[in-house]
Order: sequence, then structure tokens, then C-alpha cells
Amino acid sequence: MNNLKWPYPLEWDKEEVVSADILVLGGGIAGCMAAIAAARKGQKVVLIEKGATKRSGAGGSGCDHWESAATNPCSKVTPEELTNAMLEDNEGFNNGISHYIECREGYDRLLDIEKMGGKIRDTENQFQGAEFRDDESKLMFAYDYENKFTIRIWGSTFKPAMYNELRKLGVKIYDRVMITSLLTEEGKQGGSCIGATGINTRTGKFYIFRGKASIMCMSRPARIWLFSAALPGLCEFRPTQCIGDGHAMGWKAGAEFTMMEKSVRGEFSAAGRSYPPYGAGNNHNTWYPASLIDSTGKEIPYVSRDGKILKDVADRFKPSEDQKFFLKGGAIDNPKYSIEGPETLSFSEVLKQGYKLPFYADLSKLPEIERKVIWGMMIGEEGKTKIPVYKNYKEAGFDPERDVLQCYGTGWTSAEFLPQERQLFGLPGGFLNDWTLSTNLKGLYVAGDSLFSSNCFGHAATTGYYAGRHAAKFAEVNPLIGIDSNQVEKEKERVYAPIHNDPYSSIGWKELNMGISKTMQNYCGEVKCDELLKIGLTRLKEYAEKILSNTFAYNPHELVRLLEVFDILTVSQLIIHSSLARKTTSKPLCFYRNDSEEIQSGHKERFITLKQFDNKVTIKELPLDYFGDLKGNYEIYNEEYVRGIK
Ligand SMILES: Cc1cc2nc3c(=O)[nH]c(=O)nc-3n(C[C@H](O)[C@H](O)[C@H](O)COP(=O)(O)OP(=O)(O)OC[C@H]3O[C@@H](n4cnc5c(N)ncnc54)[C@H](O)[C@@H]3O)c2cc1C
Repeated sequence: MNNLKWPYPLEWDKEEVVSADILVLGGGIAGCMAAIAAARKGQKVVLIEKGATKRSGAGGSGCDHWESAATNPCSKVTPEELTNAMLEDNEGFNNGISHYIECREGYDRLLDIEKMGGKIRDTENQFQGAEFRDDESKLMFAYDYENKFTIRIWGSTFKPAMYNELRKLGVKIYDRVMITSLLTEEGKQGGSCIGATGINTRTGKFYIFRGKASIMCMSRPARIWLFSAALPGLCEFRPTQCIGDGHAMGWKAGAEFTMMEKSVRGEFSAAGRSYPPYGAGNNHNTWYPASLIDSTGKEIPYVSRDGKILKDVADRFKPSEDQKFFLKGGAIDNPKYSIEGPETLSFSEVLKQGYKLPFYADLSKLPEIERKVIWGMMIGEEGKTKIPVYKNYKEAGFDPERDVLQCYGTGWTSAEFLPQERQLFGLPGGFLNDWTLSTNLKGLYVAGDSLFSSNCFGHAATTGYYAGRHAAKFAEVNPLIGIDSNQVEKEKERVYAPIHNDPYSSIGWKELNMGISKTMQNYCGEVKCDELLKIGLTRLKEYAEKILSNTFAYNPHELVRLLEVFDILTVSQLIIHSSLARKTTSKPLCFYRNDSEEIQSGHKERFITLKQFDNKVTIKELPLDYFGDLKGNYEIYNEEYVRGIK
């Protein structure tokens, strides 16, 4: 590696200071929409992105369905009904504020993105007459065809459209710059957020960004438990560069977090164990409701929530007779009865009934129009499917009218993971927010997958736009604050230290990631207890104090990978602190302790919140319904928007 010539000019010793009204940290779905909203309010906006904004992030390569568009003209549910269902499904451990914004503003953002050039309707009439299509609006729906609140979209067109809009609005974009830290007033933990630092991922140049307000949009942590040194790009569901840098720098700056003790057993990622998402036999999400067959070709029946066998494919899209609507999608794992939709018989039941492994997804059993919308529209528009799955499988001869795809794991997952192989999948913890999507740090707003209990494209686009307009309001009445040069110098020393180390006596980013993941599997796995967690915390502290100073990077690319793993270490510590703080088992948080009493029935669960001050962890509790009345509060905080000033 060190014999290869680095293809970019090295600028280790260069520094650039950039000032703006609003800094957008991360240019994914939330970041792009935040920047668009703030720029439309007349603010000078700078967006900083580790990759290339045009395609970066989890939604850059596509997205096939937009959830919770409750205000679209065909929807039969209200934003309140949908948000309350999401809250109830998680026994209150959910972000009422951000999901209400998702339900209330989702359709507005879709129309907005359509104006920018994104495709949200079947304008070519390819699916005319289909039950899932509204022939008047040409909108197409997924899952619950009666209630019509999940919209099938051509998501691969969205990010380029947003990118063009950013350029039109004059947003200054810094691509290929990794944000490394937040700057705070007087350099103090818990002080107002007044900017950020970054390094160029190709040249190593150092940046100091100053802003009146900043919006955190760097997605969520990954590779905490799951890491394969041989397949680093395929370790998790979300892209490699979305690693939780934002959580790490927020924690160090004194931002408050909640639900960080929640993790789930690996579901949908590789880490050497599974096939790429949507590339194996499957009947969930993008693949809903593909038929599943056993190895003799016998079809596995779909059943209603009450176990009634559904004979007709059309019944897979209908709620039960006594049910208003059902929920499916990225954030629904083990649905509660009230929102449970049609599903194939459970894995244990089909084995008991003598179905023979392996099972396969068989699209040939679906009506032609349903097969066509899954293979070719959904598979093709979904994240990471256009080239790896749709194009490559087609070129290899896969024909959905004839061929079947094998399932791995139980049912729809692409593999079967061990209990200690955990992930922040579905609705994990993150930054705590108020009704303006502000964090506890003055001047720091948060959107998208960085928020606690967040997930999905529509959620990211709506919360991004919302945070952008509230941050703009803040910037209108607050000045730029001078930076603390000590804080900047310390950060510079930290980020550049590995390039000065001796490669022969130091370790690289993969070894460090491997060590952290092993520690988290061993001491913060599925079953937790104080004893194990404390050993884990001690081990991580040893890494921080003794190993970080013995790591090296040959070039800016390796340095970025290494700084990411430093952040993985910080997030791992945050997760163990949160786990230590929750003293009892909590089923909705998938949090199991073997050293606590069973929770008494009637016990009121609460959020546990954590932040640092003077490097000491402060723990608090918060009622699960801290957001109050959803509609009432939304309308108080968004009076102009409600009046049509968007
Ligand atoms: C394969 C796949 C399929 C999906 N399908 C669907 C779907 O069909 N429907 C749906 O609703 N949702 C879907 N999702 C989820 C959805 O894409 C995400 O929830 C959404 O993109 C989150 O938006 P975000 O802006 O918070 O994060 P992202 O879009 O991931 O953006 C985060 C950005 O931050 C940047 N970043 C990270 N760290 C730094 C740093 N230190 N400095 C600078 N920049 C940084 C990243 O490069 C990235 O561009 C899917 C996700 C994946 C991975």
C-alpha cells in the first residue's frame, strides 16, 4: 500500500475557514432537504458531505416506497392515527415528534421533490388498471391497498433532483469532507454549537466551519458488533461511510441521547454471514407479498392476523375485517395485533406442518402486474438494487416468471445471526429532540436517522426540511460566535496523530474495529448484566487510553476509516453507559438483563437520557409522552407552515 502513489495532492498542512449562517452536517436525504429549506428562507447555507452529495447516503442509490404519507389525496388514515399506531406498536418507545412530522408533512415533501424532478407517479401508464394504482393521480401504493398511505416511488431519481435544487438555491457544497468534531462556545462541553471541523478525504486538508446554527444529519451508528475485515463494505445494511460519527461528536460535545441501550439481533446485513439485502429469497418490504414455496414446490400460505388462511393474493393487501389499517415497512418488526398485517405462516409452524427446507421466493405465482411491480420497479428503485440485484441478476439470466430465489435464515432475513451479533436496525436510539428538532445544545438541530427512534426516507426528508426551517429561524436572530482556538488546535492534533505513527509498531483501522466489535459481542450482547457491562467499559477505556495512540494511516482515505473507528469506540462507550443506566429488562427496547427483577405490571416505563458534562455522564429520566399533544403542539410550533408559508 505504501508503495502506491497517492492520486491526489496531499494538503496535510493546509487549513481553510468557512463561514455561513447555517451548516448542514451530512448531505444525505435529511441533509439535502434541511439545506433546501434553510436556503429557501434566505439563509447562507454550507453543506458538508463525506461522500458525493449527488448519490451519497442510504437513500442515494434509491428507495422504492415512501412510508406514512397520511395526507396524500387517497389516504384513509390521519397523521394522528398513524403516529399513535407507531407509538403503540413500540409501547411508547418511539419519537412522537419526528414521526408526527413524517406523517403530517410527508406528502408535501413528495410534491416538493416531484417539482425538483423526482418521479413519484406512473406517468407512462405502465401499471394502468392495477389495484394498487389510483388512475386519477397515477400514484401507486404498497402494502395496505385499502388505506393507501405508503407510496411506491422511483427513488433513484430523488437525490440527483435534490442536488440540482441545492445548486439552484446557491447552497455551497463541500463534498468529500469528513466532519470530525463540533465546536462549542468557549470550547466547553454543553456550550452552544458554533461550528464544526473537518478533513478532506482525498487531500487531508483541515477545515474550520463556522455557523450560527448547525443541523446534524449524519445518520446512525453501525459496525459496533458486526465487522468482517474481509468484507468491510458489506458489514451492515447502511453505507460504509454512515458509521455514527455524528453521535460520537455529539456525545463528546455534551449533546443528550436516549434509547442508546436498544439494539436488535442482526437482521439484514452481511458481515460475512448474509447475502446482500433484497438479493435473496424474501417476502418482506420490497418483496412484499411474494409467494414462498418449499423445496417440493408447495406454497406456504399467507394468513390473516387471526390465522385465517388467505386464498386469494388480493387478500394480502387488505386489513382484517375488524381492522382499520395495517402497518408494514422498515420500522415494523414484530407488529402488535392492532396493526398486524397478512403474513406467511410462522417458520416454526411451517416446519411443524412438514414443509421441506430450503424455501424459495416465487414471483411466478403472483398476478403479472404484481410481479412486474416487484421485479423491475421496486427491485431496481430500492436502495442498492438497481445494479447489484436487478441488472446483474437479469444479465445472469434470472427470469421472475420462471426462476425462484432461495431464502436464508428464518423467512425474510438474508441470514441467521447469533444473539450477540447485534445492530442498530429499525428504530434505535439517537439524539434527543424537542418540538423544533433542536438538541439540548443551543444552535444544534438534528434530522433523519440521527434522531432517536428514526427510520426511513420520508422521515428523513420531512424532519430534514423541518429542522432546516427551524434552524433558519434561529439563525435570523443569533450572531456568529468566535471559535475557541484551543479547541481547534486540540482537534487538529487528534485527527493528524495517526499519520505520524510508525506503521510497523502500530495497528490499522480494521484491527481496531475487530477488537471493539469482539468486546461488544462479549460484554454487551443479547443478555446483559452489570458485571459484563463493566468489564466491557473497562476494556473500551483501555482501547481509548492505550491503543488509539498506536494506530496509523498511510493516506487520507485510511485516516478517515480510522477516525470512523475512533467514533465507533466512542459510540460503543455510550451504548454501555446507557445499558448500565437501564436497570430492568425492557421488551420494547429488546433489552434483556439477567441480574434484574422482572418488571412489575403497571410499572411506568420511561426514556433514560444521557449526556456528558466535564466528561462525567449525567443520567436522567423522561416520560414517554414528553412531547404532549401531537396536533396541538405541532400547530403551535409551526404556525406559519400551517398557514401555507412553506
Ligand atoms: C438498502 C436500503 C434500502 C432502503 N429502503 C428504504 C425504503 O424503501 N423506504 C424508506 O422509507 N427507507 C428506506 N431506507 C432507509 C432510508 O434510506 C434512510 O432512513 C434515509 O436515507 C435516512 O436519511 P439520512 O439523511 O438520515 O441518512 P443518509 O441518507 O444515510 O445520509 C447521511 C449522510 O451523512 C454523511 N456523513 C456521515 N458521516 C459524515 C461525516 N462525518 N461528515 C460528513 N458527512 C457524513 C453520509 O455520507 C451520508 O451522505 C433504506 C436504506 C437502505 C440502506
